[in-house]
Amino acid sequence: MQASPIFKRLFVCLYACKEDFVNGCRPFLGIDGYHLKGQYGGVLLSAVSIDGNNEVLPIAHGVVEIKNKASWRFFLECLYEALGIAGDNTSLTFISDGQKGLTNVIHDILPNAHIQNCSRHIYMNFKGKYNSLLLKKYFWEASTAPTMHLFQSVMNSIKEINIKAYEWLMKLPALWSRHAFHIGCKNDAITNNMTESFNSWVGDFHSKPILSVIDNIRIKIMDKFNKRYYQIRSLNGIVTPVVKKKIAEVYELSRKCKVYLCNADEFEVVDSFHIRHVVNLRLRTCGCKDWELSGIPCKNVVAAIAHKREKIEDYCATYFTKEKYMKTYEHIIFPIPDVSELDIGSDLGVVQPPLLKTGVGRPSKGERKREPGEAPLAHFRKKTRSLRSEIYKRLGHNKRTFGRGSLEGKKKGSSSHRSVRKERRRDDDDPDDARLSQIVTRSQTSTTTDVGDSVQARLKRKMTDKWEKRKARKK
Ligand SMILES: [Zn+2]
Repeated sequence: MQASPIFKRLFVCLYACKEDFVNGCRPFLGIDGYHLKGQYGGVLLSAVSIDGNNEVLPIAHGVVEIKNKASWRFFLECLYEALGIAGDNTSLTFISDGQKGLTNVIHDILPNAHIQNCSRHIYMNFKGKYNSLLLKKYFWEASTAPTMHLFQSVMNSIKEINIKAYEWLMKLPALWSRHAFHIGCKNDAITNNMTESFNSWVGDFHSKPILSVIDNIRIKIMDKFNKRYYQIRSLNGIVTPVVKKKIAEVYELSRKCKVYLCNADEFEVVDSFHIRHVVNLRLRTCGCKDWELSGIPCKNVVAAIAHKREKIEDYCATYFTKEKYMKTYEHIIFPIPDVSELDIGSDLGVVQPPLLKTGVGRPSKGERKREPGEAPLAHFRKKTRSLRSEIYKRLGHNKRTFGRGSLEGKKKGSSSHRSVRKERRRDDDDPDDARLSQIVTRSQTSTTTDVGDSVQARLKRKMTDKWEKRKARKK
């Protein structure tokens, strides 16, 4: 008899996601893996892109047993097949945390693709060795430097402070600095935040069984795509809201620039720092390289466009137009009926779940492993307020034990009797209260309800008097 197959790996790329990426998105993909917290473990690998409004767009995901070279190869080969990417594709850029094996696998499968490393991950390693506020400032300046000249000038500043830190950074491939990024992806992201966003998105159901995780992701994507399509349809303008806002900010900065016209499309622009830039509107280039990298005109370009009295939106990359954005979400993800209604019979039979792994030690609490230097998770503790007893003027009573002085219907030796005795011991400093308690104790030996009632009434009266006195004081 043939044994039932056991689950090993899985890959999902919905047709709508594939079409949306190919037709509407920038050729930019973030790749990452996220450990599932369910009974069978496993790692959720994902390929995520961003749309024209800088929103996360999940393209493909899969579950593998562990993050290693073989599982990355499986995932990326499936991805290329699903997206129909040719091996000689030169416009595609990947951003990753520079995990072991992943970069090599990308190079093997797609030798002409471009790779970026997440600057935040590099900084975490850098900080572990060279921790200084000034070095931190220079690191991020070098990481966002759009030109080689600017990058070198910041690196020289690092060299002056700490030569070892400079050497450590220079040994790395320049994949963490903007000046070395491929201009085709029209993106100024230097971190792999989009996959982090996707992982936190999945975080709601990370401890569910594998098929539930996959199905929940599908439902979330279906809902999100539909909302985004109708949201943008109701908006006016040529470009997406995020780009519109950025253009307005850049326009304000451009007012400080001086523009000198060379010919119909060429300008010499002097910015507020008295730095000169050559702008060519026909070739879509600017000396600061920002326009070429991000696809959105920089302040120098905006100054030149304003000088020509033309529309700034016409000089944005097509990825940011409303038309392209609507194309991104024009494909819908169809709903599927319940599993019990589906005819999913196959020759393989029922696929068995992967072998259950029991880890060593105490099970984790399901919290994400935090990176060195990252702020620890704040542990929120329920705040309980200790109530101050109006009768005994002491802290330590809560709502439940507040009325423990009551003796109604209780006999000697009952919990109420004991609590009153304890209170008497505690309140030796208040002669009035102590006397009252003694009356209570003595009266209890005769086990009469009337005495309890009278004491209760006196206590109540005393409380009321005190409240009234306090109110009068406040007035
Ligand atoms: Zn520029």
